[in-house]
Amino acid sequence: MTTGEANSVIAIIPAAGTGSRLQAVLNRPKQFAELGGKPILAHTLLKFQHCKVVDGIIIPTIPKHIELIRHEILGPFGLDKVLDVIPGGESRQASVWQGLTNARKYNPEIVAVHDAARPFISPDIIAESVQVARKSGGCLTAVPVNDTVKRVQENQIVDTLDRTELWAAQTPQTFRFPLLVRAFERALSEQFTATDESMLVERLGEPVQVIPGSARNMKITTPEDLKIAEAIMRLVSNS
Ligand code: C5P
Repeated sequence: MTTGEANSVIAIIPAAGTGSRLQAVLNRPKQFAELGGKPILAHTLLKFQHCKVVDGIIIPTIPKHIELIRHEILGPFGLDKVLDVIPGGESRQASVWQGLTNARKYNPEIVAVHDAARPFISPDIIAESVQVARKSGGCLTAVPVNDTVKRVQENQIVDTLDRTELWAAQTPQTFRFPLLVRAFERALSEQFTATDESMLVERLGEPVQVIPGSARNMKITTPEDLKIAEAIMRLVSNS
């Protein structure tokens, strides 16, 4: 990809988490844990590599993993859409901000942010989120909540939320590039921290459209999640 290409789409895959709950068990950061013989991060990156609408990929990560990712993941899995592997930050938000700052030099139209720890995303959902973001500005991938959700303080229920209106946010979260930069700049100037990108855009009062993700698009966080992911992997490869 050359700089300033019109209508280009860049994916930012934050991979700078330490994954401490899994690392304690595996002795290696979770994005390098293997799933069906491939590191989790390779599975995730391959989905973006194979999505036709994605032009380039930027990976913010822990500085000491930069070379490891280049040699053990990018080369062996033919991930030639990856433009840069850069140092991330202390929080997910800080890592994505590093990715956005780095993306400026490519002047993209659209940016899709996706957790490194969600390897089962499909190229079709990525493409749909790009299409929706192009039309409406912002697109969140999410799933309706199946459980009844309570607000609890000091072990006491203070509220029961209306389940029919609740959705659990996943990634990708995809936006027109200038809109997401503006949302991050506002958050930085107000020292506001969110757990996802969409919340920063919502704070600007800008609309974010929701598209259905899937139960399969889980985030691998705990050792139990890794076992569930292995079961999904077997299902996928048998179907
Ligand atoms: O920690 P959590 O599971 O919410 O992380 C979601 C994603 O954000 C993961 O892909 C993780 O690697 C990334 N992350 C990051 N920089 C951090 C913390 C998390 O890129 N400082």
